[in-house]
Amino acid sequence: MQLVSLLDKMKMEHLASQLETVCEQAAKRDLGLKEFLAEALQTEWNGRHLKGVEGRLLQARFPWVKTIEQFDFAFQPSIDRKVMRELAGLSFVERAENVVLLGPPGVGKTHLAVALGVKAIEAGHRVLFLSLENLLTRLTRAKRENRLERQLQLLVYPKVLILDEMGYLPMNREEASLFFRLLCRRYERASIIVTSNKSFVDWGEIFNDQVLATAILDRLLHHSTTINIKGESYRLREKRKAGMLCPHPEPKEDSPELPVAVAGDIAAARKKEEL
Ligand code: ADP
Ligand code: MG
Repeated sequence: MQLVSLLDKMKMEHLASQLETVCEQAAKRDLGLKEFLAEALQTEWNGRHLKGVEGRLLQARFPWVKTIEQFDFAFQPSIDRKVMRELAGLSFVERAENVVLLGPPGVGKTHLAVALGVKAIEAGHRVLFLSLENLLTRLTRAKRENRLERQLQLLVYPKVLILDEMGYLPMNREEASLFFRLLCRRYERASIIVTSNKSFVDWGEIFNDQVLATAILDRLLHHSTTINIKGESYRLREKRKAGMLCPHPEPKEDSPELPVAVAGDIAAARKKEEL
């Protein structure tokens, strides 16, 4: 049988498309038979891996793709690089543990959540990114349409579920109890990464129910790593560098809260970005 049709039958499309180059390179480098075979199979493997990563990146529905390598840790000294390095090693995914990223707007919570998601995708895991608002819309609609069980199954399937912006909007009782159900289903089975601008003491407000908030925190934090980012907004730094905002003193090391004037700047900067 012809080589090309064999490759076709064996669905080795990547090697088939690069066959000429692989052979030329092998001849140039005077490779032995085994070395050539390894090189050819590596070409096919690389192509498959890349295609898998691209597919999983699309399925993840990230708002944008950012990596750990693109994160400027020098700008955010409150983040323990060792902890981030360990998380990037993905043993938390293997152990179905959670990650909670807390901090004021613009400090890089979503960036780090997406970056960990990208690492998980590169390692072959399925990831899904949802804003909390989007998650609650999905769950309440599914319940209304009598297909909650199916929706919960879909949300348990990804090895990593990223829930972004917990706490920007409070939940009603139904939403909070649906969220709790999802949490119970994923508990000790698959990881959740949550980002929030609210510290844990304020989570009672988010869920409108202290008892439920305690039960949610209990499940979420039982096996988890919390990263509490205390620092200035990266977006504001960029705007300030560009001379679009008046200079402000740096926020104090021990105070995660931004001064009111800076909060105003954030709103203005966000508006500008939205335009
Ligand atoms: P948050 O989710 O905390 O509001 P984001 O993660 O959305 O903040 O960050 C806002 C923007 O600033 C994003 O484009 C992000 O990539 C960038 N950013 C934030 N912190 C850093 C950092 N330390 N290094 C590089 N880029 C950063
Ligand atoms: Mg964010």
